[in-house]
Amino acid sequence: MSKVIAIANQKGGVGKTTTTVNLAASLVLKKRRVLLIDLDPQGNATMGSGIDKNALELTANELLLGEAEILSLLHPTTGGYDVLPANGELTAAEVGLLEVDSREKRLLNAMASIRDTYDYVLIDCPPSLNMLTVNALVAATSLLIPMQCEYYALEGLTSLLSTIEKIKAVNATLYIEGILRTMYDGRNRLSQEVSEQLVAHFGDKVYKTIIPRNVRLAEAPSHGLPCVLYDKDSFGALAYLALANEVIAAQSIKTRKGSAYVS
Ligand code: ATP
Ligand code: MG
Repeated sequence: MSKVIAIANQKGGVGKTTTTVNLAASLVLKKRRVLLIDLDPQGNATMGSGIDKNALELTANELLLGEAEILSLLHPTTGGYDVLPANGELTAAEVGLLEVDSREKRLLNAMASIRDTYDYVLIDCPPSLNMLTVNALVAATSLLIPMQCEYYALEGLTSLLSTIEKIKAVNATLYIEGILRTMYDGRNRLSQEVSEQLVAHFGDKVYKTIIPRNVRLAEAPSHGLPCVLYDKDSFGALAYLALANEVIAAQSIKTRKGSAYVS
């Protein structure tokens, strides 16, 4: 059975897509079979994986509306993981889903045939707590929350946590895989303070790995590559490789000791 991790935070621009793409490629480098599902109409994870979102006939939209089988939607990538892509068409699914039965379970049900094909399925969520994110959380084993170490980081977290509680009515075993500090700048006092606040608040739910602010992470998507391939020695790439170790270790020994990387 795949472990399905939704990467979610309704706050925009906190590093969800960067995390999904680079964690996917890092897990592949560690010999895991990975599927990335892009559930954001912005299609950033699709483009960042080297797939032209504007040239697609079929996307996650058709999957959610029951108009295509999942196997017909998968694309191989240079990063070694498969992608179920998205583009602006996916906004149609948000509306279309309002008219169908079990609308919050569309993704879960559509994934049944690939449950044993991958070790990890990573779902990149849009910056909103809409029906797309609900579908991701219902289909997920767990949730990874990227948080930018800046002043308003904690804002909105309450509504995300209360959404998780509501989702548990449908997906009782959903849990928080981890909270990931992103775009960290060690020279910035505020970054340090927010980082400490997160640890004080969430304890060992916070990954030991910290993702530094690193320009290579921002450049890589314009080359259609995960940073771990674009510049494998950059601090950003090394941090995501360390995160992959933590994710794997958490699964095998259910604790997070020993594999941390802090820049
Ligand atoms: P959205 O909510 O719009 O989907 P997001 O949460 O997916 O955004 P990203 O797209 O991953 O966030 O990141 C936002 C911007 O910050 C992008 O331009 C990305 O390249 C850049 N970025 C992400 N992480 C880092 C980092 N650690 N260092 C430098 N730039 C980063
Ligand atoms: Mg994104």
